[in-house]
Amino acid sequence: MNRVMGAVIDYFNIVLVRYGEISVKGVRTRRRMEGLLVKALKEALESFKVRGRIDVSEGRIFIWDPDDVEGAVRAVARVFGVKSLSPAYATEFTDLEDLVARASEFFSDKVKGKVFRVRARRVGSHNFTSKDVERILGAKLLELGASKVNLENPEYTAYVEIRGRRLFMYDKIYEGPGGLPLGSEENVLVLFSGGFDSTVASWMLMKRGCPVHLVHYDLGFPETVKVALEAAKFLSDNWSYGHKMRMYIVNFKGAALIVNGLISPPYRTLVMRGLMVKHAESLAEKLGIEALATGESIGQVASQTIRNIHLVERSVKLPIIRPLAGFDKDEIIKTSMKIGTYEINKKQIEVCGLAATPTPKGRLDKFEKELDKVSDIIIPDPIEIDLKNSSLQEILGKLGLK
Ligand code: ATP
Ligand code: MG
Repeated sequence: MNRVMGAVIDYFNIVLVRYGEISVKGVRTRRRMEGLLVKALKEALESFKVRGRIDVSEGRIFIWDPDDVEGAVRAVARVFGVKSLSPAYATEFTDLEDLVARASEFFSDKVKGKVFRVRARRVGSHNFTSKDVERILGAKLLELGASKVNLENPEYTAYVEIRGRRLFMYDKIYEGPGGLPLGSEENVLVLFSGGFDSTVASWMLMKRGCPVHLVHYDLGFPETVKVALEAAKFLSDNWSYGHKMRMYIVNFKGAALIVNGLISPPYRTLVMRGLMVKHAESLAEKLGIEALATGESIGQVASQTIRNIHLVERSVKLPIIRPLAGFDKDEIIKTSMKIGTYEINKKQIEVCGLAATPTPKGRLDKFEKELDKVSDIIIPDPIEIDLKNSSLQEILGKLGLK
């Protein structure tokens, strides 16, 4: 550990990682989830080429001596289960006087001329309270050139965290994505078009700890498949630490032709969706996956009314999860910006390979009659893509899409 008394300390030697929901779980679940979180953090750090020592104790994860603090912050902010994080300077102290000396040395330059406050937290037994630290350190920093104290609306907050004899000091709290570590939940197979909705839906499931795999139905538009691959690759490269995401590309061109030829226009999209979920279910069963998911949002388009959702999923037994059921489009788009996929998703043209718009209230008897017409359709085996271990160029090459 660094002990740099007497010199101006202007660097960080640790990243504090805080997790939210995991800390309210029972001991066994919590251990398991902490293990998953550490595994994901390791992978994230490796991917950002950051070296550091990960240590779990007392409901916190510490990354000691990262050789690139900025890289560590960016990596950790991409790991599900992380609520917030702070690059910090950690040292040890002997008593309150020593603590205040060390903290004022760390903060004095940073608060100079600024309206500030001190926020202290304390774990362990000490002969002083965190309020004492706030008061005494605050007075000391004023003496050293800070402008004035404002508890409500400061320009600068000096955070001090005391754990036993350890002292952590920082001034920034970055938000993590929250949720649960990947792998806390079972796998889910997402019907993935690469548009805003299915991309955000995949991310939301991962946020709740579900490792996702993706299935894309190729309706005969190479640009669409390319964008779907690009979006999938982005999720895999940037958000799936701790998981090896796969994508399945299914040749659905024949199915689209047959549906266009045989099905009455108001039922085309619904029949097409019915074929997709049925196929996705059989694929999921082969892969041992227990749930499907889509990017549907209630009432967004005529195929996503409650009635039509009911019709489409009638022939499927696996649960179909719809993480965006209650989201407005603008909320979904905002989330895509946060994830980083906005520019990719925007390129995705709205193709369902079918010109016809469904009726908002499909009739069950009619729908089943229409679906019967295509019950013996044969779908070629999907192409499996290992998103983690292949570059986008390699994938496009494999699919003849370069
Ligand atoms: P997205 O933004 O995900 O493209 P959307 O608003 O365009 O969704 P629809 O085209 O009606 O909505 O599709 C509804 C859902 O059906 C999608 O979110 C996705 O889960 C699934 N889906 C649609 N087209 C495909 C496809 N070609 N391959 C895989 N899944 C698809
Ligand atoms: Mg779409």
